[in-house]
Amino acid sequence: MSVNSKLYEGKAKIIYPTDTSNILLAVFKDDATAFNAQKRGTILNKGIVNCSISSKIFQQLELRGIKTHYIDSPAPNEMRVKAVKIVPVEVVVRNIAAGSLCKQTGLPLGTVLPKPLVEFYYKNDALGDPLLTGDRLFLLELATPEQVETITHLALQINEYLQDFFQKCDITLVDFKLEFGLDSQQQILLADEISPDTCRLWDNARSTDPNLRVLDKDRFRQDLGNVEEAYQQVLQRVLTVVQGE
Ligand code: UDP
Repeated sequence: MSVNSKLYEGKAKIIYPTDTSNILLAVFKDDATAFNAQKRGTILNKGIVNCSISSKIFQQLELRGIKTHYIDSPAPNEMRVKAVKIVPVEVVVRNIAAGSLCKQTGLPLGTVLPKPLVEFYYKNDALGDPLLTGDRLFLLELATPEQVETITHLALQINEYLQDFFQKCDITLVDFKLEFGLDSQQQILLADEISPDTCRLWDNARSTDPNLRVLDKDRFRQDLGNVEEAYQQVLQRVLTVVQGE
């Protein structure tokens, strides 16, 4: 790990500078939070699991021409990344209704959406990450119209890849959250992580049981138990599929 003092500590990661400018070290933590950090806990080995899954997925996306902040993974819970200025918008892609979509629209849990839904939330903990309209996003100058178009296109491309990838893991990708950043050339890169913390993942083999099928952070949010086991299960399947590709 870097001996430099940390630049930033978030809910799931600590960011350190490195000896190379424009390269940062992200150390993934076992700490878990939910409901805007009102619920806190620890998921054993989450840092290793989420860093490993994210690293594999970022590598696969890069192979398919999608630019990410990923450089390499010097330790199982550490990722070297390109420094970016994070666009303060959480991009959520949904294939199946769950979570806040059900709460806010009344759509029943599990409704298959006719086409993927891309939503933008204001990345602002103090305001509780509210859902944005396009006009509000531009009013707050969170991104330009060109950036929103690029991000939407990338989010849909990433969704196509991830849906297919997780199907090979015998997992249904319900929804997920992405974050993007701008590098020094103002290029948009996929940033943050893609893991059971940021995706809803349902086990196809247990698809009829709404509690047993959950392989993601909803096990922690809803106190469903066996959280560590679910995260390990996702990692094992991801590693098996990646090895076969
Ligand atoms: N999500 C996330 N971070 C957030 C909010 C949502 O990673 O701060 C992910 C969440 O795990 C799910 C998707 O984005 O896979 C959609 O979440 P939703 O809007 O339903 O919010 P929730 O009800 O889970 O808070």
